[in-house]
Amino acid sequence: MERPRSLPERSQLIKGIAGIQTQRLRETFSAGRTRPAEFRATQLEGLGRFLRDNKQLLQEALARDLRKPDFESEVSEFSMAQHEIHLALRNLRAWMKDEKVPRSLGTQLDRAFIRKEPFGLVLIIVPWNYPLNLTLVPLVGALAAGNCVVLKPSEISKNMEQVLAEVLPRYLDQSCFAMVLGGPEETGQLLEHRFDYIFFTGSPRVGRIVMTAAAKHLTPVTLELGGKNPCYVDDNCDPETVANRVAFFRYFNTGQTCVAPDYVLCSPEMQERLLPALQSTIARFFGEDPRSSPNLGRIINDKHFQRLQGLLGCGRVAIGGQSDQSDRYIAPTVLVDVQETEPVMQEEIFGPILPIVNVRSLDEAIDFINRREKPLALYAFSKSSEVVKQVLARTSSGGFCGNDGFMHVSLASLPFGGVGASGMGRYHGKFSFDTFSHHRGCLLRSQGMEKIYSIRYPPYTPRNLRM
Ligand code: NAD
Repeated sequence: MERPRSLPERSQLIKGIAGIQTQRLRETFSAGRTRPAEFRATQLEGLGRFLRDNKQLLQEALARDLRKPDFESEVSEFSMAQHEIHLALRNLRAWMKDEKVPRSLGTQLDRAFIRKEPFGLVLIIVPWNYPLNLTLVPLVGALAAGNCVVLKPSEISKNMEQVLAEVLPRYLDQSCFAMVLGGPEETGQLLEHRFDYIFFTGSPRVGRIVMTAAAKHLTPVTLELGGKNPCYVDDNCDPETVANRVAFFRYFNTGQTCVAPDYVLCSPEMQERLLPALQSTIARFFGEDPRSSPNLGRIINDKHFQRLQGLLGCGRVAIGGQSDQSDRYIAPTVLVDVQETEPVMQEEIFGPILPIVNVRSLDEAIDFINRREKPLALYAFSKSSEVVKQVLARTSSGGFCGNDGFMHVSLASLPFGGVGASGMGRYHGKFSFDTFSHHRGCLLRSQGMEKIYSIRYPPYTPRNLRM
């Protein structure tokens, strides 16, 4: 009797599929198909149509995964992605143009320029917290720059993963785009393949895994990571304004934002003024029972819920603190009397919890910030522009915003990215195009003027040195 053939493991299947897909995409790239501006523009237009045609489906997926309020989806997912598509389409040909550079005396007769050429096969790995934005915005850059792309969406935002897998490929040329689905194991398998560029958004822990895998093939990487973003609040502030702005950006997307203000640094006197202001802001934003508010989302999954519930035990709850596992609900919370050694001050919070840490002076706040890893974003609030400028001048972070939350991220004219432990590389707008392009330094010389050029050749004489 014939023995039943055993099915290959799921991970082997993924490995096999990824192998076939990378081979197919490499062939497309080698044939030069993705290089013409028209081809690139067609892909970008496809992304635009994907967003327009499927808006409701995508909005539902965001609501199912994160119970994301429509307003938050609109401003942080749809409009940012649409803007990037629009910008790339409008500037594509200008961005693609060779860039002339100044020449030296010895190269006056030559042409010297920088050619922006696509890397080839790019891998984009996406996290779950802004699963549409963080898929489309890098994808716009990679396709505009003329690459082929393998996309690995997050398996945790599973409703969005499903919509992306079923719908997005219909809007793109299948010869230049592929998607691989899966979690850590499958992504590990995928990373064994050779790529020409890897763009990763996610945690510093997985960032290290990605960079280690990339090193094996000497593949360049962009790592868009997270961390703890300090928010310094000076005594010279209007507490109501600060409370509005800090609470809006801390509790946006239920705190699950890589650039959210992670903790407040302020004097005990400022804390006294800030707490009642935060209390009334939170009540105004989410009502007396935030659980029933349509303006507050939910924690992505049980694992993160339990992690956050553990953090509620740090310091003392001054506002909020309620939670309900059945609904993965955590109330907008403020913690005080927090010690630097407690978990809430050691790990990225990534939830609707805001600890306040007391410092006695601006110098102490700056020391506190500088003895920790460089954050992705840093915020400083003061009516004195001198104080804001000092925080900016004496610290380092991926990005910076004075007197507000992550507004700097909304500007495509600013580079977005981390530094140190919060990541490497930058994107958004033209920075994305440049990130996904190799900047090839080129010099073109004719065969003429050999008499002049021959003075450099051996046998060397003192005349060579005078050249
Ligand atoms: P994550 O690092 O756990 O996962 C990110 C991606 O990596 C997912 O697609 C996942 O499938 C994959 N992955 C997970 N474990 C892996 C492994 N062992 N090997 C290979 N691949 C693996 O991050 P997350 O939980 O999805 O997202 C939250 C983190 O992302 C936070 O730290 C946040 O600050 C950061 N983040 C950064 C930015 C930014 O722009 N800098 C934006 C959003 C989120």
